[in-house]
Amino acid sequence: MSKIKILPEILSNKIAAGEVVERPASVVKELVENSLDAGSTRIRIEIEKGGRALIRVSDNGSGMSHDDALLALERYATSKIYKDQDLFSIRTLGFRGEALPSIASVSRFVLVTRESASDVGTEIKVEGGKIKAVSEIGAPAGTMVSVKQLFYNTPARRKFLKSIGTEMSHIGDIVSSTAMGRPEIQFKLIHNNKTIKNWSPTTSPFERVIDVVGKDLETALHPIEFASNGISISGWISSPQITRKTSRGMFVYVNNRFVRDRIIQHALFQGYSQRLVKGQFPIAIIFIRVPFDQVDINVHPTKNEVRFGHQQQVHDAVKEAVARTLYETDHPGWRPAKFSGHAKSANPQQVSEALGKEFAIKRVDARLQDKVFADEVAVDNEAINISPQSITRGSQPATRDAQPEIRRSQAHIWPQKRFRDLRMIGQFHNTYIVCESDEGLILLDQHAAHERILFEQLRSQSARARMAVQQLLVPETVELGFREAHGLEKMIPELSTMGLDIEHFGGRTFVVKAVPASLSGRDVKPLIVEIAENMVTVGTSTDLRKALEQCCVIMACHGAIRANHPLSEPQMKGLLEQLDACGNPSHCPHGRPTWIRWDMQTLEKSFKRVV
Ligand code: ADP
Ligand code: MG
Repeated sequence: MSKIKILPEILSNKIAAGEVVERPASVVKELVENSLDAGSTRIRIEIEKGGRALIRVSDNGSGMSHDDALLALERYATSKIYKDQDLFSIRTLGFRGEALPSIASVSRFVLVTRESASDVGTEIKVEGGKIKAVSEIGAPAGTMVSVKQLFYNTPARRKFLKSIGTEMSHIGDIVSSTAMGRPEIQFKLIHNNKTIKNWSPTTSPFERVIDVVGKDLETALHPIEFASNGISISGWISSPQITRKTSRGMFVYVNNRFVRDRIIQHALFQGYSQRLVKGQFPIAIIFIRVPFDQVDINVHPTKNEVRFGHQQQVHDAVKEAVARTLYETDHPGWRPAKFSGHAKSANPQQVSEALGKEFAIKRVDARLQDKVFADEVAVDNEAINISPQSITRGSQPATRDAQPEIRRSQAHIWPQKRFRDLRMIGQFHNTYIVCESDEGLILLDQHAAHERILFEQLRSQSARARMAVQQLLVPETVELGFREAHGLEKMIPELSTMGLDIEHFGGRTFVVKAVPASLSGRDVKPLIVEIAENMVTVGTSTDLRKALEQCCVIMACHGAIRANHPLSEPQMKGLLEQLDACGNPSHCPHGRPTWIRWDMQTLEKSFKRVV
């Protein structure tokens, strides 16, 4: 006798429920998605006891006929796809046809529905997957699904439900992330007969975003916008100063579907490149639109994940959108101090002598380089500072089309926001440079600022070509571990372009013959060891650009002026001027801020001068 049997439908529905219905919030998600697919404009979600006692979703959507309502409860019954090809061009939120039968198999379930054209509605009662009653009923047009005593017949599952508060917060998350993507729809969330939140319909997506993330973020969010290759990106991102400790402030929508996607998250962080320190998460609401046939939704039963046809293009579009906006907004915004004469600009010669030759390298426009390593362009800096008209297309190097635009707007923004326009007051604790502008008091971290400057110089090929190199009188011998030696060996040619001249002496021994002038006088051994160790963790096999960028970070850190180091006025002024040439002057390569500001209002408030 055959041992293999086809499972009865109720059992297979219960198995499907194991994937689709993890907790009350998953029921809410599936029901709300059905309401949206049915074209509803008002959706009401009523919960009792965190969803243990009741989950009820009512809508004013299309409703179902008597026959369709019965069919909808069968496995693989869906009105959303019909043929093979439909699966590769899904426009609705649902398509698998398994939510209703799965939910009905693990609860006491009541469906009431009426099509607007029909005089009478249908009520279907199901218990643990078995249809108990079907009757005609008077009902408003639309659909109401009530899910009572979820998991009553799967005790092991019910036991895993968390406290009412926890389950409610999951439900709240699901409803708010859905509401954020559909501002034109009214959502009402009720718990134990009390309205928790009512999202009124609005034509302004930003209004809905603020309604979800909170009014205090209204000024902290900046719009993003980008389109290329049929992919369009829009949304809002927070300034790097406003972050969270988790990714919960990050909302990603692909063709209006809320998803969790590691690729997009990665792109987002790359867009913020070096503006955040480890463990900081931005607040971001990102809407991605791609042609329907270029995204596969059928990756996971809960449809929380997607797979893009052109993953790299989507990744780069998001990164670009974010980087552009941060580029435009994350620059210091002060006017020159008008009430006290400007400190005289330092003579470049003096600066160069004071800080070492490398420090006075002709200003290189590193602003754009901060975007991607390979995209670096040497832009004539003078052109930017004089006037926008000096910028002509003809003089631009061949770069991606996005860049000339950035250059143009930069010419408008930058001249009014220069570090050199600050009035320097002096040095504090041999660590911070104290400055003022009309708006308030500014402290710069000398190490972080210099790190940023050196990093951008090291990273720029054109600056590297002009970089002064210091031959070591006595070459330094460094011995490394096996893995470290292997890692370093591969990077030797690249490092030499940065002025770090290393020779492999054989085995695990290396000889350092020259260093960039910025590192002269510094202990070479720890630098080489750190670079080699980093090559082991980064793994040179992954991405040479990334590995090289890491080397720049390490070299900048070793070369930068330390804290507790007295600086002369020309040295400080030199730092400010060099910072002006940076693409991302506000953060060191590790993401720490290079400067902080107390505006007058805050100061006066602290001194109780204003009420
Ligand atoms: P799917 O959404 O994947 O099609 P479901 O099991 O969630 O599968 O729903 C089955 C079908 O029931 C849907 O395709 C739809 O036709 C119908 N349906 C479900 N909920 C609603 C609703 N709120 N309003 C109108 N029709 C609905
Ligand atoms: Mg569905």
